[in-house]
Amino acid sequence: MRKPLAAAPPRLQRMILQLQKYDFTITHRPGKDIPVADTLSRKFLTYKDSSLSEGMDMQVHTVYSNLPVSDTKLKEIQAETEKDSQLTQLRKVIQDGWPEERRKCPQSVSEFWNHRDELSQINGIIFKGEKIIIPTSLREEILTKIHAGHMGMEKCKQRARDILFWPGMCKQIEDIVGKCAICLERRPSNTKEPMLPHCIPDRPWQVVATDLFTWNNKDYIVTVDYYSRYFELDKLHSTTSAAVIHKLKAAFARHGIVETLISVNGPCYKSNEFESFTKAWEFTHVTTSPHYPQSNGLAEKSVQIAKSLMDKAKADKRDPYLSLLEYRNTSVDNFKSPAQLLMSRRLRSILPSTNQQLQPEVVSYKEMHEKRAQRQQQQKRYYDKSARPLPPLIDGESVRIQEHGLWKPAVV
Ligand SMILES: [Zn+2]
Repeated sequence: MRKPLAAAPPRLQRMILQLQKYDFTITHRPGKDIPVADTLSRKFLTYKDSSLSEGMDMQVHTVYSNLPVSDTKLKEIQAETEKDSQLTQLRKVIQDGWPEERRKCPQSVSEFWNHRDELSQINGIIFKGEKIIIPTSLREEILTKIHAGHMGMEKCKQRARDILFWPGMCKQIEDIVGKCAICLERRPSNTKEPMLPHCIPDRPWQVVATDLFTWNNKDYIVTVDYYSRYFELDKLHSTTSAAVIHKLKAAFARHGIVETLISVNGPCYKSNEFESFTKAWEFTHVTTSPHYPQSNGLAEKSVQIAKSLMDKAKADKRDPYLSLLEYRNTSVDNFKSPAQLLMSRRLRSILPSTNQQLQPEVVSYKEMHEKRAQRQQQQKRYYDKSARPLPPLIDGESVRIQEHGLWKPAVV
């Protein structure tokens, strides 16, 4: 019974609810080996103890108010699931029960065989655990949305796997990202990325770094949280202290005042005005030397990400804010997303999601710390490995060469 309630098939949800107050282990044994239970199932109690169901109504109500069909997108998924012949068959099998052996399973749904104990259907939508199964007719549109922000292959797969499922989904994401001209042209250069800083604060929005950058002749400020890697991105009307302070105040009003703010030693950060701001708002301001930009590595890295998101959105004539939203919803270091770490929830986006998936859920500091430490070790190994020379090129091989920052197709 380790499965969360919502991940269980509906016909088992009531039983799980009833058994919530007990601690027990379940072992499977065929019916013929347990004559007592079989007999008892035919001799149930004739009276009803009303105290047994106390609180039950409330719980049942919670389960059903979390049903995922408030959203127009989900209504569409429901309608398309209805029209989908494979999923119609699958719903029937889920309802009637799976056969004992795979070979007796209807051919059209055999690719779901390995997931059969995780599948359920609620109001006409099929779920694998808490993930929505997307009907074939909507998969292409969903794939486009998954890659709308032009995030890399791994990020796209992580984002999709977090909330959606269909057989072969990851392979299809690999195909679409691997062929995306916008992404291929804007791949990062073959240089090693700076190692990420090792500082992991105790809680979200405690230590935050900030930096300014110019993109398309406009000035921007990025403000990034060391704990969650969540960053705020704002356009600046000028790069004066007043303008920067104004944006920081807005961010602090949203997420709270930081304990420590890290910035480079730029003119806007070392004015008297800025110093008065740090005093009045009671936080510590640490500046790093511009000759050692890696000491503000996270801000630097966030600037790169922000620029890349905006570059790709511009090339694709898409809304950069949707890219930013998807980025904030995508897990960092194979763990949780910046939004989950900062705000303890997934943010609703243009990808379909259920009420259940959007419910707040706090990630413990301990869990977060362990994952981050693990990841830093992995990163170090990867960093050492990536220091090897690039593989040799073969005559006639199709390659991409970098010209003025863009990777253009070419042949060796
Ligand atoms: Zn792309």
